[in-house]
Amino acid sequence: MHDERDPSSRQLPARLRAVGPGWHRLLADLHEQLHAQHPGYQVDDLKEKFGALRIKVIGVPDTARPQVQALVADAEVQSAVTCEFCGAPARRRRRNDTCATAATPHGHGTRS
Ligand SMILES: [Zn+2]
Repeated sequence: MHDERDPSSRQLPARLRAVGPGWHRLLADLHEQLHAQHPGYQVDDLKEKFGALRIKVIGVPDTARPQVQALVADAEVQSAVTCEFCGAPARRRRRNDTCATAATPHGHGTRS
């Protein structure tokens, strides 16, 4: 399925469908930052877990790991307060008031 000769097939833009559209912007930003410094980076894993992104990046030099991890961690933290479905700022794990992190039909709280 993946073309192993082409690193882009294993980078974030090719993997967006693994998570909801509300997070695509976040991931596009992360890709830009990673790709600028490590054009050959690869995504080993991308998924939603406990209402936030979980991203595993490989293919970067060990010396760059701490910096790459910091970028990834930042995106993961942001995802926890961003609606996975529509990208709106959302609070996490709050009844009636959150759409973030909901695995299924979500609302943005009561409007009335
Ligand atoms: Zn939403």
